[in-house]
Amino acid sequence: MLEWRLPASRACAAVRLDSYPMLMTAVDDRILNVADLIDRPGASRRLDLLLTALDDLQLQLAEVTGPLELSGVVESVVDGLLVRATLTAPLRMSCARCLVALTEPVETDVVELFAAADDPHAELEPGYTYANGVLDLDALLRDALVPAVPLRSLCTEDCRGLCPECGSDRNESVCGCMENTTDSRWAALEGLRLPD
Ligand SMILES: [Zn+2]
Ligand SMILES: [Zn+2]
Repeated sequence: MLEWRLPASRACAAVRLDSYPMLMTAVDDRILNVADLIDRPGASRRLDLLLTALDDLQLQLAEVTGPLELSGVVESVVDGLLVRATLTAPLRMSCARCLVALTEPVETDVVELFAAADDPHAELEPGYTYANGVLDLDALLRDALVPAVPLRSLCTEDCRGLCPECGSDRNESVCGCMENTTDSRWAALEGLRLPD
């Protein structure tokens, strides 16, 4: 299995996409300022962030090629802060049959509760936490992205793949290898008749 390592680029800082007054603010890339939501059940902030790709995230057979997009809402609830958002990441993959490069975004929904790090109940139910008025999205993004990447992607549903004999792309040309192979290997079965 090939493994891709993301470039350690931090060129794209968190960006506010518009000036909606209730927009969540980011202290730093992937770190949200949630001080004004803590212990205020019912309060909420809209999330609309472009985040740098995770530096050391390793995905099998895929590579994140640009910033991650997270849009949704952070809500203050009795048990903590609830993040409900859609995560979109641009991916580069290869067709599982013909190996042609594919670039397509992957999208996944995220619904996760963050509890106060000093909440005694947080020990009973290990999960995401926030502390000191900030919430770090790093672990959430990793956990959400890895299972969202398709294990196997195809350029088209009926991709004909590479010829196992000569390696030519059978979507582009007909090499004729398979016809010869079929003739020689299965000739003995030609006259075989199975009982009905
Ligand atoms: Zn293909
Ligand atoms: Zn061939």
